[in-house]
Amino acid sequence: MKKMLMGAVATAALMMTAGVAMAQAPAPSTALTTHEIKPGFYVVEGNGGNTSVRVGKDGLIVVDTKNPGGHDDLVKSIKAISPLPVKEVVITHHHADHAGGIGEFEKDGATVTTNVGLKAQLDKGYTAANNFKPSQPSKTYDKTAEVKVGGASAKLYHFDPGHTGGDTLVYFPDVKILAGGDEVNAGTPNIDFPFGGSLLGLQDSLAQADKLDFDTVVPGHGAVTMTRAEYEAYRKKIDTVIARGRAAIKAGTPKEGLLAAIKTDDLGWNLATPQWNAPARLDVLYAELSK
Ligand SMILES: [Zn+2]
Repeated sequence: MKKMLMGAVATAALMMTAGVAMAQAPAPSTALTTHEIKPGFYVVEGNGGNTSVRVGKDGLIVVDTKNPGGHDDLVKSIKAISPLPVKEVVITHHHADHAGGIGEFEKDGATVTTNVGLKAQLDKGYTAANNFKPSQPSKTYDKTAEVKVGGASAKLYHFDPGHTGGDTLVYFPDVKILAGGDEVNAGTPNIDFPFGGSLLGLQDSLAQADKLDFDTVVPGHGAVTMTRAEYEAYRKKIDTVIARGRAAIKAGTPKEGLLAAIKTDDLGWNLATPQWNAPARLDVLYAELSK
């Protein structure tokens, strides 16, 4: 009886605390869902690619900024994680569903870092739907860089052109997490060949990332996280698609028949989409696998 009473009091106290906390925190956007992956590391899901948030002692590191127009909602979700300012933003590639908020975060006072290849894609004239053109980054790097906020570190790597010509893989060594951008996809991946992407480059980039010590991956799309084992299985699927494509070309398959000749039902992928069969993409894929 006494135990039950104590339990009831404790529960009431907990509910009060939760009520106070809820009243004080800004209401998170209904379109976005926040997931705590490890202490101090969160993924905000929805409205474009996954956004990673790493909490340092005096500020935040954010990876990817979602679709154009999504800035206010994303900031609401980030403020519900921590009231600290966003000091560093890293953009994994130029596509609008990852780069949509570059300009707004810069206006808010954050430094936005990207690979130099991302800037090159923007200079080349990348324009997403509704004529949206992402803003230029504040800083670029070539092969590797590091951003630090209040004891939290993110190492940036551009091993090779993969999903695009300006990809960045973001590695958080102290929490053993790799944010892969769209080089890693829990659904069917795609390669933006007209903007510098390469399937063979992606294979190499993922192989180099494999040397890093991580146990969790944040893919660009399709899931909030992948385990190391799921990442290895994903790498194997990329290897399989390349091997099957090369074998089909060797056997005389013409360009028009290449995607149909690459068996992917056992991989759970669908290549019969414009992300693979648009001529500007297929031409480069065929040339790459013919070498
Ligand atoms: Zn993309």
